[in-house]
Amino acid sequence: MNTSTHPTRMPVIFVGHGSPMNVIEDSPYRRAWQALGKEFGVRWPKPRLILCISAHWITQGWWLTGMEKPKTIHDFGGFPQELFEQQYPAPGAPEWAAETAQLLRQPHSGEAVGVDRQEWGLDHGAWGVLKPMFPAADIPVVQLSIDYHRPADEHFALGQQLRALREQGVLILASGNTVHNLRTMNRSAADNQAYDWAVEFDQWVAEQIMSGHPEALVDFQAQGETAKMSHPSYDHFLPLLYAAGAAEVGEPVEFFNEGYQLASIAMRSVIWG
Ligand code: ZN
Repeated sequence: MNTSTHPTRMPVIFVGHGSPMNVIEDSPYRRAWQALGKEFGVRWPKPRLILCISAHWITQGWWLTGMEKPKTIHDFGGFPQELFEQQYPAPGAPEWAAETAQLLRQPHSGEAVGVDRQEWGLDHGAWGVLKPMFPAADIPVVQLSIDYHRPADEHFALGQQLRALREQGVLILASGNTVHNLRTMNRSAADNQAYDWAVEFDQWVAEQIMSGHPEALVDFQAQGETAKMSHPSYDHFLPLLYAAGAAEVGEPVEFFNEGYQLASIAMRSVIWG
């Protein structure tokens, strides 16, 4: 059987999430998320479960959320009250998390992934995108954390381990940004305006993905100054490595939301499959 035609096979999606305000403000980016969500049930089946890798859950070791009802975490400051009132009451999947944690291996130690039963929940990198995409909040969501201090190839390797889950109706949804520098934000910049280094790095990312060899993304730091400027810290880049790892080599790929926010955040988003 050709697994690529398996009826429950899910795509892998990397979403550039940008500002938390994208959840409550209309924009071309949010409209694209809303439209993408509606394609489940048409272009793809509805996911059985969503496994979300967000830039905002950084841990020591790797963890899966294992709560019955993951709480909506408002992990930001200085935003309007309306944003703090947002809830995304999607169920968790404690049994699935416990089973999957045993199947996944932390690349450096070979140990199973941990299960977090009370600390985390859904952070804004997850619910901020899921709410526009799947407003009914009726699909179980589990988050996988990021062990930030491990080398890039380990994040990609863990992503490869997620690939098989796609055959079981699990949507792998990684949420970060291909360029993310909050120190250089320009509030008056339009969506098609960005710093030269931001455009250069975002283009480099796009080329590696289109080449059909997304493992090349692992070497992002070799891009030198453009990489440093685009990611003063790597938290928003790393989710892309999980998504790229979960993609098949040579799998069809497309981009959406190829614009910028505030000149130093690239919103480029990717669908494999
Ligand atoms: Zn973020």
